[in-house]
Amino acid sequence: MSEIKCPSCDVLLPSGDLRDGWCGACGKKVPMFVYHQAHLSGPKETGLPSAVREAPPVVAQLDPEEKPPIWQIACIGVAVIGIAIVIVRALM
Ligand SMILES: [Zn+2]
Repeated sequence: MSEIKCPSCDVLLPSGDLRDGWCGACGKKVPMFVYHQAHLSGPKETGLPSAVREAPPVVAQLDPEEKPPIWQIACIGVAVIGIAIVIVRALM
């Protein structure tokens, strides 16, 4: 495969960038004439730049080691103190 350079920034375009149609170095779209000069077919048009297409799906990842939020601790503390007061009053 012949070496193809980005006309915008003159960086050698890797095959991945050519497939996507976007220059990874300058972020500009690789013009069609570059493909024609290299006798290549153009990029597969999906309407989205590669960064958007290849972005992983947003999944809410809960860390099992994560501590509960401060308001939860405060609620538990208030409940424990309330129960303690009720017990102390019942004993007196
Ligand atoms: Zn470029």
